[in-house]
Amino acid sequence: MQTMSLRLMLEVAPDVRETLVKNLFWIDRGITGVELSGDVPPVLTVTCTDDSDADEIEAQVLADVTKMVAQAATVCPRTVYETQPCHGEPLAADEVCRRLEERGWLSMELSGSHVYAGLMAELYYGLDRAFGRRARGLGAQEVHLPSLLGADTLVTSGYLHGNAHMGNYVFHLHEDRSAVARFTEKCVTDTGGIDLSGLETSADVPEAVLSPAACQPVYRMLAGRTVATPFVTTGYVRCYRYESGATHGLRRSREFGVREIVYVGTERGAADFRAQLIGVAREFLDRFELWGSLVTASDPFFTDTSADYRVYQLALELKHEVQLGLGGDRVAAASVNQHGDHFGRAWDIRAGNTNERAHSCCMGFGIDRWCLAVFSQFGFDVRSWPRALREVVGV
Ligand SMILES: [Zn+2]
Repeated sequence: MQTMSLRLMLEVAPDVRETLVKNLFWIDRGITGVELSGDVPPVLTVTCTDDSDADEIEAQVLADVTKMVAQAATVCPRTVYETQPCHGEPLAADEVCRRLEERGWLSMELSGSHVYAGLMAELYYGLDRAFGRRARGLGAQEVHLPSLLGADTLVTSGYLHGNAHMGNYVFHLHEDRSAVARFTEKCVTDTGGIDLSGLETSADVPEAVLSPAACQPVYRMLAGRTVATPFVTTGYVRCYRYESGATHGLRRSREFGVREIVYVGTERGAADFRAQLIGVAREFLDRFELWGSLVTASDPFFTDTSADYRVYQLALELKHEVQLGLGGDRVAAASVNQHGDHFGRAWDIRAGNTNERAHSCCMGFGIDRWCLAVFSQFGFDVRSWPRALREVVGV
């Protein structure tokens, strides 16, 4: 294993730190670890396998860091609302996972995918019910959202532009009896895995991708239509993002649950509804007595392809994020997003009496991360939790 340490003589905005670490894994498959210290100026440590070209990787890392940090420097996130810790020192995310495992409430299926049991499962589904109830209180109709999306849905919406690396692409074996027979003979490896390299599959042209963002199929469903009255829905769905070496416990999973609220209507209607969603974000911080904040934010950007988009999102305050305290760290647990007429254009959706191009906004709750923060801040004995959270798990 080779290790390189670089002292960055640059300030890295807090919201850029995580994106920076995640993106550096994509420079080379040989990179096995990326860490950015909390020092000022920060030290970046990159580890890579012995057969990697360390000089080449170091040059690439430096070039990427300089580009990303410079592009991100012009606008900073703004804190809109903040709550204070009132239940002692929160536990770090790794420690929460360790204690959940110890109790048999969490078990890793593979890196980034978990089984939940006991109080973890009760809290997870209880929170979804609480978020869903609040959504219906805003007039949202319950819908079922699929995890399996058409690849063309994500192409048409533009999602894969800048996010292609996060896709979990779904493929299958080609219809061929002899290939299926060969699977049993040749494809199961000695280590208990599978190796499909000898078989014909649809991997080159997959027709499906596991949903990386809950609301995407809603716009497709409305393609070519006019929504005379606002279309407001809520649904629960499992989402999937491939995070390479940055995958980490419940803090950054490959599979996670989302409760989504989506509004499609006129420009004016979408602006008013977004204001209500921002109110909902504040309300849940207060109701659950959680330590956290509501900040203006940007979507994670991939090196130079969409760093400018971050500035655009922050400058126009198009995205708000609920961040919850976890030890000395924070985790983004919900976001409110204003899309303008992006999806209205992509899917030819019109709204209102004047047939204007539809506008939309959405809110997504990352349920697993809310669970992580609840255990981090309030511990594992439900009797000492705030009343509203005890109600969520029926105690
Ligand atoms: Zn959404």
